Amino acid sequence: MTEAATPVTDDDHTPLLGPGQAVVAFDVGGTDTKSALFDDAGRMLGLKRTQTPHHAGETANAVLDLVQELTARYAIDFPSVDPVAAGLIAPGLVDDDLGIALQAANLDWKDVPFKQLVQARLGLPASFSHDVRAAGEAEFRLGAAQPYRDVVVIVIGTGLAGSIFIDGRAHIAHGYAGEIGHAIVDPNGFPCSCGARGCLETIASAGAIARRYQSLTGIRPDGARDVLARAQVGDDAATQVWESALDSLAVSIAQLTAFLAPEAVVIGGGLAQAGDALFTPLRHRVDELLSFHRRPVLLPARIGQNAGLIGAALRARDTVGGPGVTGETRQAESAPSTDKGAA
Ligand SMILES: [Zn+2]
Repeated sequence: MTEAATPVTDDDHTPLLGPGQAVVAFDVGGTDTKSALFDDAGRMLGLKRTQTPHHAGETANAVLDLVQELTARYAIDFPSVDPVAAGLIAPGLVDDDLGIALQAANLDWKDVPFKQLVQARLGLPASFSHDVRAAGEAEFRLGAAQPYRDVVVIVIGTGLAGSIFIDGRAHIAHGYAGEIGHAIVDPNGFPCSCGARGCLETIASAGAIARRYQSLTGIRPDGARDVLARAQVGDDAATQVWESALDSLAVSIAQLTAFLAPEAVVIGGGLAQAGDALFTPLRHRVDELLSFHRRPVLLPARIGQNAGLIGAALRARDTVGGPGVTGETRQAESAPSTDKGAA
């Protein structure tokens, strides 16, 4: 299996994690699994992308085999780095607290106790978390949301999901919190893969933006950013699709603001790279929808495409109580203010 592993080229060895225990981290996706070793300086080493194995009824075991093989490979490639814990993340419905994969649309498993199974395979303490929550955790502890305690991180990609931090702590609710992509914004809208109708994901995810443009025009765009580029040069269908995505996203953020009053809403994923073309009209729309509410700052994610892996490493370190910026320490350290400035 590891023969298929290829180094990912954007390995910049940024010591984002800071000093702490050496850990190994895995980001299991429907198509690829990313992995890396983090040394005690927090450097990311040996970043690899390997095809995720799919075997009917045995996918979880095949993923565990892969995790074991990659860990053995790291021991050979980096003999001086001895990981003391492992962090695994995956999509779908994940109970981070118990370390169980409840289910996943693109991965053939149900109720798999990955935390326990990884521990048994590797003989190391392990964490198992949801991929978007792990990415959100990286933004919360090390990235754009670092100055804040009440935060929602939204990741807009093929799907759309969020992670919620309240008073310095992740709000997980056994895996059911943060599903902003499956909160309904139009009860008469498009059918969603989840079985409901008019979920935010059916309008505002990068996947939906591309799909909707194609269904209106018959032209297959090169992703959501291409739809935005077409809207910017006056393509009517692209403008319609893009603006309705912005409108729906703004409604969802306004709802979140009324319920949770986050100090910051951080937006990551491919679509966030649109920068001002996304954030300027979105800030305007959210502002228009709110009245007395405290406006959250809307910020682009900072950590980039390895945020999930970095979050997995943070949670691996948490399992061994290594020095890290945990929610609890942040709560203890930070005064209840929002003006700590840029980190
Ligand atoms: Zn849905």
